[in-house]
Amino acid sequence: MEKRNKIVAGNWKMHGSRALVQSLVTAIKEGAASLSDQVDVILFPSFVHVPLVNQLLENSAVMMGAQTLDAHASGAFTGEISGPMLIDYGCRYVLVGHSERRHLFHEGLSVVAEKFKAALRVGLQPILCVGETLPQREQGLTENIIHEQLASVIEAVSIDAFQQAVIAYEPVWAIGTGLTATPDEAQTVHRLIRQQLADCHRDIANAVRILYGGSVKADNAKGLFAMPDIDGGLIGGASLEATGFLAICHAAV
Ligand code: PEP
Repeated sequence: MEKRNKIVAGNWKMHGSRALVQSLVTAIKEGAASLSDQVDVILFPSFVHVPLVNQLLENSAVMMGAQTLDAHASGAFTGEISGPMLIDYGCRYVLVGHSERRHLFHEGLSVVAEKFKAALRVGLQPILCVGETLPQREQGLTENIIHEQLASVIEAVSIDAFQQAVIAYEPVWAIGTGLTATPDEAQTVHRLIRQQLADCHRDIANAVRILYGGSVKADNAKGLFAMPDIDGGLIGGASLEATGFLAICHAAV
């Protein structure tokens, strides 16, 4: 059985000021130093804070990613940021298909697949977010929705690409709401995701890390991370406060 290092990723969304970023990164860098060979800690600041975070993380094992990217490498796309730009400023990961991008910015299956491809082209590891809404869960559609979100990317890039990717299961009803899937509910979906990958390639499925996201906090992280197919967390709100975020990182050991 493959040993998968856990990931704890902090998605700061459109939050933070120069001062907050400075103090958060300083505290996280210090508090996570002892975990460096056990947990991969990744911070996702807003684009404007990427250069500052890159500078602050110098000589640290804490890594940085971006919250999205444009599918094109360059061109007349006012306001967009490309994969090569992110690489240039020290990003190693990028979120793709976050539910806020899918729902608020109307990014459909094909856009998500194009962004996933664009990330891989420049050597950024995509963290592909998948998840069902509350009405979809209530109608018993969770499995179908996740299957479709994952299948459209597998078809676009092939299963081999998942050797360089991470998946995050984020039930939309649990994001920023304080509601969390129970460890058993989350495990059920994580198992389905791994099985879908295994149907294409067993070894890649065993190696891929699948994070849970949705109101993870210091007090529920341990139970979630103890499940066999949960390989860490994608943390929104609780990643904006260093003590709580570090407690989540420690829960992953
Ligand atoms: C997220 O935005 O990916 C997320 C999981 O947010 P929160 O932890 O606040 O629910």
